Amino acid sequence: MEYFEVGTKKDILYWSKRLYQKGMSPATSGNISVRTDKGILISSSGVCLNDMDEDDIVLIDFDGNLLEGNKKPSSEKFLHVQIYDLRDDINAIIHSHCPYTTAFACSDKMMDEPIMPEFVFYFDKIPKAPYGLPASMQLAIDTAECFKTSDVVLMQNHGVVCAANTLQQGFYSLESLRAYAETYFATQVLGGYKKLTKKQINEIRKLKLQ
Ligand SMILES: [Zn+2]
Repeated sequence: MEYFEVGTKKDILYWSKRLYQKGMSPATSGNISVRTDKGILISSSGVCLNDMDEDDIVLIDFDGNLLEGNKKPSSEKFLHVQIYDLRDDINAIIHSHCPYTTAFACSDKMMDEPIMPEFVFYFDKIPKAPYGLPASMQLAIDTAECFKTSDVVLMQNHGVVCAANTLQQGFYSLESLRAYAETYFATQVLGGYKKLTKKQINEIRKLKLQ
């Protein structure tokens, strides 16, 4: 794996390109950030995650004010600020409009069907934040609220947010959610999914205690 220090601009650039190249952040959608000693390093507004360079990443404070850089911070900066404010253990955030995952956000369906052991083990049920105007403080507050009980949150009619200690962990969370979503849709073609039984689910949950 390419060498870079976690929580730096290089870290952001590496995972941003992987997000785009995996089809998880189309065109100029999505934004990404890390917490540093000096503030929050965040992608700038309107940039494609695949085409960013270091100048497209700016430093903001925990009120969303620009500290360093010549670009405008992501329009969803308050979403990032609110989540960091709420959770001391979170140091990296990815917001994406990953299509298959966003399909769940754009419907009344929850991501909660026990069809794969790893989904039950790692996620169980993904909370869904109510719709809010993109870039609004209300959307940031309502979405951050869901991070009290989960590290990943769907945003109604919008997308998904993954928060983690590192961008690598956040990326894997999003990739796992996307895998669940793709598998779910594929089962529909095959006549529907078969749920794990209550006994099987309990056995999986017990693995967490080991
Ligand atoms: Zn968005």
